[in-house]
Amino acid sequence: MSKFWSPFVNSLVPYVPGEQPKLTKLVKLNTNENPYGPSPKALAAMRAELTDDLRLYPDPNSDLLKQAVATYYGVQTSHVFLGNGSDEVLAHVFNAFFQHGKPLLFPDISYSFYPVYCGLYGIEFDAVALDEQFQIRVSDYARPNGGIIFPNPNAPTGCVVALDAVEQMLKASPDSVVVVDEAYIDFGGETAISLVERYPNLLVTQTLSKSRSLAGLRVGLAIGHPDLIEALERVKNSFNSYPLDRLAIVGAAAAFEDREHFDFTRNAVIASREALTAELQTLGFEVLPSAANFIFARHPQHDAAGIAAKLREQGVIVRHFKQERIAQFLRISIGTPEQNQALLDGLAGL
Ligand SMILES: *Cc1c(COP(=O)(O)O)cnc(C)c1O
Repeated sequence: MSKFWSPFVNSLVPYVPGEQPKLTKLVKLNTNENPYGPSPKALAAMRAELTDDLRLYPDPNSDLLKQAVATYYGVQTSHVFLGNGSDEVLAHVFNAFFQHGKPLLFPDISYSFYPVYCGLYGIEFDAVALDEQFQIRVSDYARPNGGIIFPNPNAPTGCVVALDAVEQMLKASPDSVVVVDEAYIDFGGETAISLVERYPNLLVTQTLSKSRSLAGLRVGLAIGHPDLIEALERVKNSFNSYPLDRLAIVGAAAAFEDREHFDFTRNAVIASREALTAELQTLGFEVLPSAANFIFARHPQHDAAGIAAKLREQGVIVRHFKQERIAQFLRISIGTPEQNQALLDGLAGL
């Protein structure tokens, strides 16, 4: 605290991301990064962009990337918004759509950045409890609200809501913006982008950090009705005209064009997820059904924090959340088969 701070800064409770260790030998299964590298075509496009042109500002509208995203999803560029990671997109979403004096709804077990944005923008929220199986029950959201947001698949559970249930939610709250945060959709869920034409209250966000292996590049996007996109552009252009740099624009566009690499890596992650799930079940873990690039698991006889500490001693890091309802779970990102084996080795003799 300091007399120089604007008063609201005192009450901020910032998000704490998973550890990015300086030790490179660790098997890092704690922040849902992709274990495989980005598209070689994306890397080549970025290398070609490393020229004296970096003295020039980038295109403030990132038109090249907007077009690549629009082509990939079969929408118009007027349906596409881009940002410096989907975290920045989400920040603008909270600012643009959720300040209506009624509580925002999101699951009690969900992405822990949501309450942080509420704190930043002074947005009231109600955390809606997941059911006993840790699933989102869509009927619980059919009540007065100032907006709805949820990850699909949910984080950190990995559980997915079917598209017809998402549609039910959109129908039940026609006067609110419903945001489906699809950070992990490419690992098993069905995207809601096909509903954007019919539901002007739907906004879908995605990121290149997980399924496209570009967490370090910071590119996220939103797709929705042009009226929603216009609000986001107004907020963005009142905040930072150039959230995407020259490298990000060309690298992300090339990543969307390289479907082959995308399919190869995500299929490898999905296959490893199924294999690791089976192995953990053999060790006695309960594993929630995952459609993401991570699994959420607990062991009926062993304390989760204890398991995490034991794994760390053996050079494997996973994520443990202190929130009471999930304090006995570990969130384990899917690694390469070798990394997953290191995890299993670390669990031997539990
Ligand atoms: C990882 C993640 C994001 C943020 O992704 P970035 O594009 O890297 O900012 C957003 N939502 C959820 C649920 C995530 O897990």
